[in-house]
Amino acid sequence: MSEVAFIPADRIEALPRALKAFGLERFRGEDLPVKLHMGERGNRWYVSPRIVKSICDELSRAGARPFLFDTLPCYEGGRDTKEKYLETAIMNGFGGLGYPIVIGNDGVNVEAGGHSFEVAEELYRSKSAVGVSHAKGHVITALGATIKNFGMGGLSNRSKGYIHDGGKPVVDRGRCDLCGTCEALCPSEGAHGERALRVRGDWSIDYGACLGCGRCVRGCPRGALSYRAGDFNLLLALGAKACLMGKEGLYVNVALKITKYCDCAVNALPIICEDVGILISNDPVAIDAASADLMEGKMGRSFAEIFGVDARAHLRFAEGLGLGSLDYELIEMG
Ligand code: SF4
Ligand code: SF4
Repeated sequence: MSEVAFIPADRIEALPRALKAFGLERFRGEDLPVKLHMGERGNRWYVSPRIVKSICDELSRAGARPFLFDTLPCYEGGRDTKEKYLETAIMNGFGGLGYPIVIGNDGVNVEAGGHSFEVAEELYRSKSAVGVSHAKGHVITALGATIKNFGMGGLSNRSKGYIHDGGKPVVDRGRCDLCGTCEALCPSEGAHGERALRVRGDWSIDYGACLGCGRCVRGCPRGALSYRAGDFNLLLALGAKACLMGKEGLYVNVALKITKYCDCAVNALPIICEDVGILISNDPVAIDAASADLMEGKMGRSFAEIFGVDARAHLRFAEGLGLGSLDYELIEMG
């Protein structure tokens, strides 16, 4: 069972003291990537730079040399080149914190579970990693937090594309009876407003509009659909394993400004949950499990009810891969 510290939203000034309890001296002398999402251009719900600074200050006091780290996304927008991302990060308030901002993309190939992932070089070369993750909803995984921050965010944009593409469906026409269940489950919207997946006398898909969420594959009653490469949740967990296995880690989940959609979205609204607080753990699976439980407790409903998918599917894969434990002890601080 792993320990997860919890600081309620009305006591977040206790964050520095709570961090000290996690033995930050183990990072002394290291150039330390603090992996975070610095917000898409126009998004206002990412983790506050003030909180990020407070974490970096504690790491720095303990003798580490933290730097703010993220990678390029696999879609066009305000962060699709290193120059644009740096500009966006500064616009979003991360420029004046006193810590370098490093945007990576070039990766080192790491094999995990029969798949190859390009782990961003800065992360690959570091002995340790710190994650600062915004705990919120996500259209594919229902929950986006630490495993998502590394399993997608720690990889090159090519590997991000591989995970998204890998979760897209392929049909076995011999099995498909055109029942339409998959179309009804599909959450995507194509260029003209219709779903990526259409069943109208034939089965067809617009792969450009498909999110790779796998709802259709899991929901097909005839087993007629399979993944191009694998379940998104599994590939995400494998990506996190490629980034984190063998590393010393410290993970912070910020469950404040809890939006339905992720920090990549220009408009991540609506807010789906009142502020919960900040969680800290050395276990990337336990901290996400605890975050999900606390947010669901506050919402009075599950992520599955909101998104129609199991928010813990990627966490179970991550646990199965040895990344951490779903069992945790919550220690309230503050
Ligand atoms: S749910 Fe399966 S059987 Fe039904 S239309 Fe879709 S692929 Fe075909
Ligand atoms: S993977 Fe998701 S987005 Fe793509 S067709 Fe299936 S249900 Fe729709």
